[in-house]
Amino acid sequence: MKKIYLLLAALAMISYAHGQRTLVHCGNLIDGKSNEAQPQMSIIIEGNKITAIQKGFAKPGADDKLIDLSQKTVMPGFIDMHVHLENETNKDQNLQRFTLNDADVAFRSTLFAKKTLMAGFTTVRDLGGSGVNIALRNAVNQGIVVGPRIFTAGKSIATTGGHADPTNSYRKDLMGDPGPREGVINSPEEARQAVRQRYKDGSDLIKITATGGVLSLAKDGSGPQFTDEELKAVIETAKDYGMHTAAHAHGTEGMKRAVLAGITTIEHGTKMTEEVMDLMKQKGTFYVPTITAGRFVADQAKVPGYYHPLVVPKALEIGPQIQETFRKAYKRGVKIAFGTDAGVFPHGDNAKEFTFMVEAGMPPMEAIKSATVVNAGILGITDKVGTLEAGKLADIVASDENPLTNIKTLEKVSFVMKEGVVYKN
Ligand SMILES: [Zn+2]
Repeated sequence: MKKIYLLLAALAMISYAHGQRTLVHCGNLIDGKSNEAQPQMSIIIEGNKITAIQKGFAKPGADDKLIDLSQKTVMPGFIDMHVHLENETNKDQNLQRFTLNDADVAFRSTLFAKKTLMAGFTTVRDLGGSGVNIALRNAVNQGIVVGPRIFTAGKSIATTGGHADPTNSYRKDLMGDPGPREGVINSPEEARQAVRQRYKDGSDLIKITATGGVLSLAKDGSGPQFTDEELKAVIETAKDYGMHTAAHAHGTEGMKRAVLAGITTIEHGTKMTEEVMDLMKQKGTFYVPTITAGRFVADQAKVPGYYHPLVVPKALEIGPQIQETFRKAYKRGVKIAFGTDAGVFPHGDNAKEFTFMVEAGMPPMEAIKSATVVNAGILGITDKVGTLEAGKLADIVASDENPLTNIKTLEKVSFVMKEGVVYKN
């Protein structure tokens, strides 16, 4: 018996030493740590992990698989901190609230997840849907659906009539009275219950709608919608369950309240004043700009009949302001976390955000870090992804041109690997 074990152990060691490795030759390597791209590097992968990174083009052994990216720039897989994988913009979206079943939403979401991964986004944070996004996360984790690694809020938490109240604008007899279970709260007690329900549902984090929003069928797009006490209850309870918090916010007052209460990220941040920027710096709050969504809704609002009449004036007012807010916030030193609000615009166009960030004054290397190592930090997964180095998961993307000289090249990445599996080459 002992002999057999020894033999097995010896065989295991041999197969480990000669196990199939994948060698990736990188024309340029942006590893998420260094501020420079490094020319002619090799990444060595075994299974789903990077085992080494070497200077020069390593010579493959007989059993090794070679991936030749020697003419491309190689980077860590991108992370988008704000997507909605359950749906995608279209002119019938309001009607679809009444016609689509969860199963319809689920089938569609698999397509959106795939588009997102193919665009180079190997991890995303889903900031709200019906809860189908939780099943989608599980299906991706189980290898049933092709898509990015998902961290999801499940259903957003709103107040009655607020942005993300699921029965806004319904006929009165259909409205019902959604409560904490459905993610609608009207007191600190209900706030705590809603957070605990999200935890029970399987959410990874908590999203709240701190102010009105552009696409909800309500008049006000930016007033505050939570009291200080409700915000405090949400954030404290989320912390108890190890969840971080994200606040949708366009108007100044709601944004300021959320920052003071200790929110982790501010989404959109449209009317962010210098006072709020300084508070965010002081509290260490991250700003997730979503410039791409702002520009898309502003353009689309000019297409007659595309949005509900209540939405059009809000989209025209708020949409175009976001890029300018980003410019000022970045310049003032607010921490920036890359995020797009994909779903509000077509999935797969997420990398347009890089172009808009660079256009507004952020150096390309900083924009790339914001979409990799910075976001991994917020999600608490820097031990697994966000940089390319030994011991990390092999989440790797590559572009034909060097993004440090042409950022637009990231809008059509030519190589995508997630956990050592090639999805696009
Ligand atoms: Zn959103």
